[in-house]
Amino acid sequence: RPNSIEARDAASQMHPMVNFRQYEKSGGLVIESGEGIYVFDNSGKRYIEAMAGLWSVAVGFSEPRLKEAACAQMDKLPYYHTFSYKTHGPSIELAEKLLELAPVPMSKVHFTSSGSEANDLTCKMVWYRSNALGKPDKKKIIGREKGYHGVTIAAGSITGLPLNHGSFDLPLDRMKHTSCPSYVHFGRPGETEAEFTRRMLQDLEDLIEREGPETIAAFWGEPVMGAGGVLIPPAGYWEGVQKILRKHDILLVADEVICGFGRTGKMFGCQSLGIEPDALVVSKQISSSYMPISAILVNDRFYQPIADESARIGSFGHGFTASGHPVAAAVALENIRIIEERDLVGNAAALSGQFKAGLEKLAEHPLVHSSRSLGLIGALEIHPWPDLPASTAAKAVAAMVEEEGVICRSVGEALCFCPPLIITGDQLDDLFAAVGRALDRLAAERPA
Ligand code: PLP
Repeated sequence: RPNSIEARDAASQMHPMVNFRQYEKSGGLVIESGEGIYVFDNSGKRYIEAMAGLWSVAVGFSEPRLKEAACAQMDKLPYYHTFSYKTHGPSIELAEKLLELAPVPMSKVHFTSSGSEANDLTCKMVWYRSNALGKPDKKKIIGREKGYHGVTIAAGSITGLPLNHGSFDLPLDRMKHTSCPSYVHFGRPGETEAEFTRRMLQDLEDLIEREGPETIAAFWGEPVMGAGGVLIPPAGYWEGVQKILRKHDILLVADEVICGFGRTGKMFGCQSLGIEPDALVVSKQISSSYMPISAILVNDRFYQPIADESARIGSFGHGFTASGHPVAAAVALENIRIIEERDLVGNAAALSGQFKAGLEKLAEHPLVHSSRSLGLIGALEIHPWPDLPASTAAKAVAAMVEEEGVICRSVGEALCFCPPLIITGDQLDDLFAAVGRALDRLAAERPA
């Protein structure tokens, strides 16, 4: 229909992550409202938002306290910056709160507006620090294949997904990638998980040796890889990585953009996986994405050389208009209060067993290869079909699941789930029942 909202959208927007030519014809799904774990499209159809938007809406889609916090701050001071020596209460309170919650002692916070920006700036800070230490050749950064850290030039370079590099002339030369520690995808026939872990660590050692340890400044990793397809590293992986990094004086940056604020059943993914980073990057669930805000936390080892360098030069030559935006900061603070008061981290931990069992039950379905989860983030691995590769099959499953009233996301061969942290046990049952119905309908149409 030429004047429908779908047609106007397709005529006016370039959406991320679509085939533009296809989108011009097909249009998209218009979401109009939200309530709790549900969203509603413009025909009134209700969906369980089993991805919490983009892995981010911890408190659900209709939290009045966040609206009130935003309005109250809008009334008082709708905008001011934290540029140079100006500052304001909401940014200070939020910085203090983040330092209080941090999984390991952290010294300072810098605010940004998105996960990409936060990773990009952390990257610049790593380089600034190397210069400050008189090590201008220690600038390389190691990310991981299938790691996701955003799409700006530096962050997109640390990301290890070919689609985000492709025709964009990324990655930058300074960014190197080591193997992805997903046993289910990259374990070799006959290789035990422990052997796989040792191989992953050896790959990292080999890369560092090849490049020269004196040239490598930092290692980047998500505790659990999200956008790469919910990839949970094997036991001993993070412990081994940290040993190697310490040996070579390489900083560790934990990208908690998805894992942070309860997703894995602890406040931070670092706590679930025994990670002690030098810098922490947070976004998404910090404000339940009601307002765009992200932050970088750095420890003393990271901060002190930067502070010295800024004193030498006279200033830290960087700043964004929206850093620590007061409305975003006020919303983030209220969101964190809600997470704490309602013990949503505890809810994620308490429901993690039911979540895992639900996915395991679905993994018995003939179209499904296996399942994996930690806390309230998980995935089903879809089998290839006789006439379709697994990645296309996973897309077909996601589309059918959507027809059944659940929004999830296919990434490669995986079907990902990351529901709002307010979800209840009954709602989890509904979610998995709908996925089961979708799988049955597809199996009836095309036997595996
Ligand atoms: N880091 C991680 C782990 C992410 O999952 C994402 C987004 O999904 C980002 C960074 C980038 O965040 P943004 O999309 O806000 O730039």
